[in-house]
Amino acid sequence: MGDFSEKIFTSYEKAADGEEPAPEDFMNIAINEARKGICNKEGGPFGCVVVKNGKVVGIGHNRVLIDNDSTMHGEIAAIRDAEKKLGTYDLSGCDIYTTAEPCPMCFAACMWANISHIFYGCTIEDTSRIGFRDKRFDELMGGRDKLADYLTQMQRKACLELFNEYDAMEKTIY
Ligand SMILES: [Zn+2]
Repeated sequence: MGDFSEKIFTSYEKAADGEEPAPEDFMNIAINEARKGICNKEGGPFGCVVVKNGKVVGIGHNRVLIDNDSTMHGEIAAIRDAEKKLGTYDLSGCDIYTTAEPCPMCFAACMWANISHIFYGCTIEDTSRIGFRDKRFDELMGGRDKLADYLTQMQRKACLELFNEYDAMEKTIY
């Protein structure tokens, strides 16, 4: 994991003038990661980073289209990356930053991985507006209200800009 997290950390350490990275810095990395994915037509505008002790330990974006894998959501990609790099299936003490409120599958994946807290940008309603089915699945599964303490919303505006960019693109909706 050395090279990778070192590189990411250094890049925004510099941006923040040597200060400790702020939560906004992590979300900005997630947004850029998502942007990379939509520019390459790999999937939806969903990017994520896993953070431990102020360092990025995993990163990923939605790759449903490019991988032909309906389960390859941003959160799943970032969790797999972090677990591989840290050499463990237990991400206790790690937070996840994601450009959108997680779908039921990714919620469960965060819990299976023992992610401590989820920070998200766009809401599930925002995700519906750009054509995804998250809200429908969420209504079927229910129970999100009970998880309120597990989630914090932040930087919705910046994430909405990303969603708007995606919405204006020629794309495949899945
Ligand atoms: Zn998901």
